[in-house]
Amino acid sequence: MKNARRLSQILFLALFLFLFIQTEYKGSNELGLPVRFFLDFDPLIALSVLLATHAARALFLFSIVTVVVSVLFGRVFCGWVCPLGTLNTFAGWFKMRSMKPGEDDTVFRRWRPVKYYVLFFLLVAAAFGWNAAGFVDPISMTIRSLAVGWNPAVNKIVRSFFEFTYAADLPWVSPGLDAVYSAMIGTALAFEQPVFRQSILIGLLFAGVIGLNALAPRFWCRYLCPLGALLGLLGWKQALARVDVDGGKCVSCRRCNLSCQGDATPFPAGRWASRECLACWNCADVCPVQAVSIHPTTRATGDGNVDLTRRWLLASGLGALVAVPAMSVGAHRTRPNPELIRPPGALPEQAFVRTCVKCGECMKVCLTNGLQPTLGQAGLEGLWTPLLVPRLGYCEYNCNLCSQVCPTGAIRAIDLKEKHRIRIGLATIDRDRCIPWALGVNCIVCEEHCPVPGKAIRFEEEERENRRGETFTLKRPVVNPRLCVGCGICENKCPVVDLPAIRVSSINETRSEENRLVL
Ligand code: SF4
Ligand code: SF4
Ligand code: SF4
Repeated sequence: MKNARRLSQILFLALFLFLFIQTEYKGSNELGLPVRFFLDFDPLIALSVLLATHAARALFLFSIVTVVVSVLFGRVFCGWVCPLGTLNTFAGWFKMRSMKPGEDDTVFRRWRPVKYYVLFFLLVAAAFGWNAAGFVDPISMTIRSLAVGWNPAVNKIVRSFFEFTYAADLPWVSPGLDAVYSAMIGTALAFEQPVFRQSILIGLLFAGVIGLNALAPRFWCRYLCPLGALLGLLGWKQALARVDVDGGKCVSCRRCNLSCQGDATPFPAGRWASRECLACWNCADVCPVQAVSIHPTTRATGDGNVDLTRRWLLASGLGALVAVPAMSVGAHRTRPNPELIRPPGALPEQAFVRTCVKCGECMKVCLTNGLQPTLGQAGLEGLWTPLLVPRLGYCEYNCNLCSQVCPTGAIRAIDLKEKHRIRIGLATIDRDRCIPWALGVNCIVCEEHCPVPGKAIRFEEEERENRRGETFTLKRPVVNPRLCVGCGICENKCPVVDLPAIRVSSINETRSEENRLVL
């Protein structure tokens, strides 16, 4: 059984990483693969969005599969499928090998209820309008952390290595490595080096989660994970696969406890905690006298589940009730933020913040790297939701990839025809910095790049004389707000590189009734 589980974990982790790598523009506007597969099967994401928006979404039907499997078999998702769980299994291996019976296997036991209180906090907060589950949901957190934090670092390291070997021009070696490098670009490596704001912070937080394995194996899964708590609550009956310890046969070696992935205490007999069991079934494998069996039964085979105290449940619920209004305090609620340029298809701001789970899929797939995680632009309630930063990357006119990968509908599924009608902001020209306006010298870069049919940038023309006394036509750009969609390519390409002479702000966005320039 152990080998089957390990194989399943490796295959699902490989699938997760494969889909992660495929969440990228590959020369076509169709991804062709269900890259948000793991998010679609995540019931915590489904539940939090449902509570926060009061709208059931058809795509969450997949998560029912996870619910049914959990009800019947317990936390099989944790033990066999979850990519973060598998990373924790690898990282916790050394700790598990070093543990001693009776000492290390009880140290953190009193932490077991924490994840249920975290879950309760998240669900109460969602019910009152703050969807915070995505911060700590394992699938959302892993995708975001890899996309924003670790993928740029890995890309940088690998690229630097190949650049070094190329520069060293080693006979025999360099040409071979060059071929490997070319094959990796666009497959294992991104086409362009990804750059994200806050990548160090988001990457380090994830490293901290993995680092917790130094305290106890799968510390995150055992004590903190809210999805694990939800699946544990759903699967506490798990009538089709219950751990049953025969006290008559048991020789009290405690090997079952030491090998348990989830602090489910198979030993002593009758104390097995079904909600903590990650269905790894190591206990049955390691028992030297076959005292542990896994079989279908409705009989209670263990009474070790932790009791949740009313006091802590109340504290989590009250904490959420305090947090919800606290999160919404801030300038972002009083006036539209000019920097807050949302991707095309984004719901109106309040609905967007409630629906987005900060998974980072849209940021990973954005082909110009323009989508970045917010810091304060949308207040704390909108932390790590996507915004377009035209200086870093623009919204490609013939691309709707972010709307294809968003698992929650925070970015609606839109086709290109609809996308072309959506305004995400408006470009304005800073005449003190614009080269033709300020210096009287021609520059047509923004107009050339503007992708809108008929061009949203036109020229005011004026006959001028240059220093040699020759006459020329000076073309000074002017933006037509009725045509501009706010894609930001003009800002991105503007040759005034530090603070561009044409800049996009969120005004005029289609999704808002208030943030309007053109009535
Ligand atoms: S406890 Fe959470 S992180 Fe661990 S395996 Fe389960 S769902 Fe994944
Ligand atoms: S908007 Fe982006 S970050 Fe938010 S849920 Fe959709 S894909 Fe994830
Ligand atoms: S943002 Fe600039 S390039 Fe894009 S539509 Fe407006 S004027 Fe044209």
